[in-house]
Parts: sequence; C-alpha cells; structure tokens
Amino acid sequence: MSLVYDGRLAPEVPPQGEIGWVMGEQGYLEPVYATDFPFLDDNEGIVAYDLGVKGTHSGKSGGLGNTLPHDPQDPFATAEIKFCMNWLAGYVDADFGEDYLVIPSWWSWLSKHVPASYARVRVVHEDGTHIWDDYLDEDGCTPYLDVGSFTEYTLEMWTDMEKDSGTTSPKKITVLQQAADVWEDEEWAEILYFGVQTSALVDGSQYTVELKPWFGSRATNVAPVAALVLRHSGKMAYLDGMETYISTKLDGDLGCTGTYYTGYAGHVCVVFDRPYWKYVIAHEIGHRVGAGQTAWFCAGYDIDDETAVYSSNANCNCDHIPEWSNNFKGRWHCLQSREEIKTAQGEGWAHAYGTMLFNQQGSTSGNDAAFVYYKAMNYVIEDPIPWSVEVLPPIYVNAKNNITRMEQFCDDNMVRNGTEQDWLVFFTTVWQDTTNRFSAAELIAVSDLAPVTSYWSNLVWAVGVLHTVDTPKYDHFTLKGDQAGVNH
Ligand SMILES: [Zn+2]
Repeated sequence: MSLVYDGRLAPEVPPQGEIGWVMGEQGYLEPVYATDFPFLDDNEGIVAYDLGVKGTHSGKSGGLGNTLPHDPQDPFATAEIKFCMNWLAGYVDADFGEDYLVIPSWWSWLSKHVPASYARVRVVHEDGTHIWDDYLDEDGCTPYLDVGSFTEYTLEMWTDMEKDSGTTSPKKITVLQQAADVWEDEEWAEILYFGVQTSALVDGSQYTVELKPWFGSRATNVAPVAALVLRHSGKMAYLDGMETYISTKLDGDLGCTGTYYTGYAGHVCVVFDRPYWKYVIAHEIGHRVGAGQTAWFCAGYDIDDETAVYSSNANCNCDHIPEWSNNFKGRWHCLQSREEIKTAQGEGWAHAYGTMLFNQQGSTSGNDAAFVYYKAMNYVIEDPIPWSVEVLPPIYVNAKNNITRMEQFCDDNMVRNGTEQDWLVFFTTVWQDTTNRFSAAELIAVSDLAPVTSYWSNLVWAVGVLHTVDTPKYDHFTLKGDQAGVNH
C-alpha cells in the first residue's frame, strides 16, 4: 500500500491500518490512519479536514496513476468508501442533566465531534467530476461510493441540512454565515472542505472513512442543534416542507441586529455568542415552528416599567438585567417577568421547545426536563429582612417544578397576565406527562383554533372543541394549567 501526495511518492509501504499519507510539518510524508485527528491546514479561515489536503490542487504535476511504481497490490483496483462526516461543536449551556448534545465549553478541548446528520455533501473526483451530491443520512454518512486506488477526492460539506431529501416536501434548515440579504441562497452556508487520497485499495472491498474537522464556526455550531430538530421532527412538530434559514451574521443593514425570530418566512437570527448557546438556538427555532399559528409567536415586548403589567416585585421583573445586555432588548422580558399572557405564552413555548428538544422523555439518566436559561436571574428572599441574589447564566431550571411564580410574587395584577417561567412549566408538563399528554402538534392546533387574544379561557375553549369537554385529555390540560399557575 503506497500513496502519492502532490506528485511525490510515499517512501515505503505503510503498515496495516493506514489508509494513506499526508505531508507533515517537516515536509515529509506521514502515514494517516482512518482514526487520525487532525491534520491542520488553512484556507481563508474556513477549511477543516483531518485527511489529506484541501480540495484545490492547482499546480500539481503529472498523472498520479502514471507515476506509480509497480505495487504488490493492484493500483487499478476499485472499492467502495462510505464517508461519515462530523461537526466540531460545543455549548456554554450544556451538561445540566439533559440528554442531547451534552458538549460543554466550545472553546476548550471539551469540544467534540458530532455526526453531521442530513448535511449537504459533494464528493468531487480529482478530475472534477461530482461523484455524489446529496444530503447525508441520519448518522451523517454517505452511501458506499465507488472509488479508485491512488485517487484524490475532495469533500465539500455545507451547513445546509435536508431530511427526507428527494421527496416532494423535504424538511430543510440552512445555517448561513453571511448577511441576511442572501437568506435563501444555500451557497451562503458555511462550507468545510476535506481532502482524501486513496492508496492501493483491495479490489471490491468496502471502507468507512470518518472525517472530523478541527475547525468550527458560529454556523457549524448551530448545525447540530438544527439537525437534532430534524432528527426528532415528529416530536418537534417540524412539518414536511418546512424551511428555516438561520443567519449567524450580525448586520443591521441586512437583517440581524440581535437574536430573534424575524417573523418572516422562517428567517431566524442567532448572533454574537448565541450560536454557542444551544437552548437559545432551540428557542428561536421554537418561535419559528410556532409562527405559522396565531398565538405562540409574539412580536413586540413592552415589558419595562412603563407598562401596566410591570411588577415592582424584584422576583417578577427584569430590572437586574443591564440595558446594554446581549440582545439589546434583554430587559424587555425575562424568565421571571410578569407579561401579557400572550407574550408569556410565546416565550414559554419557545423555552419549552428547547427543553423538549434536549431531553428524552422518560429518561432515567437525568432530569427529563432540564432547561438552561441564558439571562441573569434575581432572587429576593424575605428572611426576614429582604436580600437579593443575582445569579448569572447559564442557569439550570427544572421545567417540571410548579413554582407558580406569578401567584407567589406578583399577584396584585394577574388577570390575563403570566410569567415565562410558569408557561415553560405548563407547556413542558402538559407536553410530556401521562397518557393524556398533548403533543407539540396538538398544542399548536389548540393555539391555531383559539382566538388570537390567547387568553386562558380561549385556550380551554379550543381544547374543548378539539378534544371534547370533560374528557381525561381536557381535564389534563386544565389540571396542568392550574398546577403551573397559568390559568389567569
Ligand atoms: Zn423568545
């Protein structure tokens, strides 16, 4: 087994287990193992690969096959390779007892590789032929592809994901590293390049090559969360034909000035450091999924001390959050603030969406309702002299704990008001508990049918129409509402 790198011959036949050679730091050819990680290179800041070279090979001389010496194995053998691709990812708000994407601290060595499920990949032969251009399977792999010995392949991978590709209504999520004037242009997805060179293959055999980039970006860090939504599309009510574009580029002129759902055609902004907060990414996708409906996407917050819903109780407002905080409008609303009921619903829904995404129902490995919050919380304790504690994010919150925040702390004005935390608990518990549970799709259907004012009585009326008054399912909805304290 030997391999040519860039016109030069590999010096000797490598021992078993190696799949090729790359140029090492000292200018010598070094063997590559299928499990090796990583071989570093750079290309405009976006290249990553762990095998071979980046896919542009200008200036290479000579036909590789013609320069080879006779080899004990057949240099003209063909075989099949399945390429399995990965993202490098990590999240600030990970490892709080949840089940999925438990990868803390993206900037540290704890960053990990996760399968690039559903990502678009193009496999290009050294002669420029596209031998495959499609979306990876759930495990992040291509099918077995025909390859030749002593041949160079480039793999291009986009932060552009599609599930049920090839059907009439695939589910799509594209993460953009560019500004928002190019929202629906998939070429503005981040692209990673991998280079692979085969050596003498054993005729007719099958190989699996796993490619792990050493490079990550905002876009590649958002991709695994998007892929998880697609993977659990049924549970997450991500419908056939749904398309979402997530821009990670801050650009006031072209669309994103902060992190939010734009409300337009599935366009989501996730900027600053927020691509490294997985619950935030899920939150915004949650707004997008709820946005086809009338109630659970709420534009406009006016939750400062000018409004009627403002509570002077520090357990029930956002006064502790600086005006200049991360998304500019950080103080407008927070997990603990009293808000109009429709606003609290919209935010509670988005929080619950992340909770349901990252937790496996009935999981025994941890808390199955771990929610991690991304703004500071303020707790005021009467003991007996009031004192307050400000807790900085990421903050673990048990989304099944009926804290009934509004009833406890801001009960002077509860009519048609609510808090995000109470609605988070309501949606999580009504969604995941018992045989009478409401799926995400059923919850959205309730919202769709209810009058747009979205008062508690409106929702209960819609549940009665859809599931008949006084049935166990109806009773489950109202009971969870009573327990969470959202029935106002
Ligand atoms: Zn929100």
